[in-house]
Amino acid sequence: MKKNSKTLKIIVALILGIITGLIFNLFIPKAVNDEAIKWVLKPLGDMFLRAIKMVVVPLVLCSLIVGTASIGDIKKLGRIGGKTLGFYIGTTAIALTIAVILGNLLKPGVGVDITNIVSTASEVKDTSAPFIMDIFTQSISVNPIESLVKGDMLQIIVFAMIFGVAATLVGEKAKGVITFIDNLNEIFLKIILMVMNFAPIGVFALMSQVIMTQGVSVLLSLIKYTVVVIIGLTIHILLVYGGALKILSGLSPKVFFKKFYSVMLLAFSTSSSNATIPINIETCKEKLGVSDKITSFTIPLGATINMDGTAIMQGVAAMFIAQIFGIDLTIQQQLMIILTATLSSIGTAGVPGAGIVMLTMVVQQVGLPIEGIALVLSVDRIIDMFRTTTNITGDAVCTMIIANSEGELNRDVYYNEEVKEVLC
Ligand code: ASP
Repeated sequence: MKKNSKTLKIIVALILGIITGLIFNLFIPKAVNDEAIKWVLKPLGDMFLRAIKMVVVPLVLCSLIVGTASIGDIKKLGRIGGKTLGFYIGTTAIALTIAVILGNLLKPGVGVDITNIVSTASEVKDTSAPFIMDIFTQSISVNPIESLVKGDMLQIIVFAMIFGVAATLVGEKAKGVITFIDNLNEIFLKIILMVMNFAPIGVFALMSQVIMTQGVSVLLSLIKYTVVVIIGLTIHILLVYGGALKILSGLSPKVFFKKFYSVMLLAFSTSSSNATIPINIETCKEKLGVSDKITSFTIPLGATINMDGTAIMQGVAAMFIAQIFGIDLTIQQQLMIILTATLSSIGTAGVPGAGIVMLTMVVQQVGLPIEGIALVLSVDRIIDMFRTTTNITGDAVCTMIIANSEGELNRDVYYNEEVKEVLC
């Protein structure tokens, strides 16, 4: 009991946050809600998130450099990199296939009365969709310091990997630098563990705020769309991830979810893959038995490019928009959704709400009316919590499978019930 008391506190905070949010939303005047958010909840939630974000950029940089360099052999690095990318892109394509099938079967946009939906059309009107190839071109930084300052994760990742590879090639002379960066990394991880002591307060503040401002009425207006997305996410987590773990590594999915759910709770309440990177790395290492080398490579990379939950939302949203506007999608257009949403989920940043911005790219490529995004925008805050949870679970599952295939997984730790609680 004591061992899990931190996680338990987070669960209680999450539930209390939802209940408080609902009570305030339904029974307390809006003016009081606004004051409670302004003076208490927003400052508390923001302080918690900012404290996590404080170390995300340096931690990703350091851990990826050390991770890449510690693999020690370019061939092995290429093999692990190839497998990781293959898994990430493969599962995203599967996620989108599920989304498109569900969109066809359950038809979330058929029979929806648009007039009742809170329209925020003006917010999307001016959004111009990013050009698809920019995802690749802009992953290369022209100024790594600027990328760090701006917190551009994709650029930081590409730079860190190039740095790590170069350090490997330099060999002995680079050892001192890598050891120094490794020590820095330990300090950043320690900071995160310290911040996590405040997780229950942060989670309560974040959850109650979302429910207070969103309420249930918005959700009800788009209930069919929301439910279809959540069904897709659940199928993906249980069948695709659970199945992949079992089939590709022979590991018990039950043990995985039992040990991993605290990270999922954190992703749910923060809606940010980036914010969960540190705790995801620690959990994979300490509770699930993956070596440092693999986790520090696969988790930051996954949090930045592997967004299966986002892909599912984008797939269902595109189908939903087409159905609302009475557009019959051809097979080619549906394949286009799978292709463009795979790319756009890669380009989606691991921060709240990023997925809906990238949806403009999918919608435009498929030739659907961009105004349709205004419809799904109203429930996106809630869906973001579910899809972020899926996103980071995929990163950890990939980590387990790659570690197992490389002999970098300690099964005794994986199956040991007594391992220390990371959130403490
Ligand atoms: N919030 C998501 C994440 O951090 C990205 C998105 O908006 O889809 O993983």
